[in-house]
Amino acid sequence: MAATQQEQEFGSDPTACRDTGHYKHEYNEGFVDKWDELIDWESRAKSEGDFFIDLLRERGAKKVLDVATGTGFHSVRLIEAGFEVVSCDGSPEMLAKAFENGRQRGHIVRTVQVDWRWLNRDVHGHYDAIICLGNSFTHLFSENDRRKALAEFYATLKHDGVLILDQRNYDAILDVGYSSKHTYYYCGDNISVYPEHVDDGLARFKYDFPDKSTYYLNMFPLRKDYVRRLLGEVGFQHIETYGDFQETYREAEPDFFVHVAEKSYREDLE
Ligand code: SAM
Repeated sequence: MAATQQEQEFGSDPTACRDTGHYKHEYNEGFVDKWDELIDWESRAKSEGDFFIDLLRERGAKKVLDVATGTGFHSVRLIEAGFEVVSCDGSPEMLAKAFENGRQRGHIVRTVQVDWRWLNRDVHGHYDAIICLGNSFTHLFSENDRRKALAEFYATLKHDGVLILDQRNYDAILDVGYSSKHTYYYCGDNISVYPEHVDDGLARFKYDFPDKSTYYLNMFPLRKDYVRRLLGEVGFQHIETYGDFQETYREAEPDFFVHVAEKSYREDLE
């Protein structure tokens, strides 16, 4: 077993590890240090363009809560675009990296370490928008945790706030098999990302880096319509789903979906 995998503490049967809280072991210092190599900030910024900035501006958002800050890619982009941003994550290693990435670019990233399942305990006030990006929601393994996290997001939004949450196209992975254009999210060179194991309850992805280090993430394969249904059930009134940043797409084609869930009450849905 690779040393890095041992440090991620998956135990003797890694495919049995299906636990929401385990993300803290997975994003250990070693993997966090590698994360920016994996996503390559410059290429990622180029590939997604102003998609999120435009969505937020169109809705008049000013105060944004980044609940899955990671190493700070979106927090920093939004600060630079003039938004007021608070940056949360459950992983202290990720937040330390995000703070340092911000500092190097001349920004103070306002960080709060918090788990989504009890977000309201530590994050007070209301936001125009919440972003949960980079296929992060997939770390929740039970329906109860997913509902609780979405309810916490909903409660933290203003009455007309918006949640922007993305995910891998797991429907395609489960039904057709894995293929990735590798264009939008993981833009780093010479890094291989692929699912080593997939079943209805687990997608275990392997990340091989040029220095021969290997890391894994165990994630729950969220189906697109299931996530849309949960968003509606916690109270979001209108949910638009983009495929690789486009409004129209063939179901199996996109690598990633982006859900834009609006809280404003819609009379036409009565
Ligand atoms: N948004 C960043 C990006 O796109 O590069 C990071 C994405 S990374 C795949 C997922 C992030 O979600 C990690 O930083 C992890 O610590 C965080 N995370 C996962 N489950 C969480 C939870 N229950 N509460 C808070 N943060 C969580």
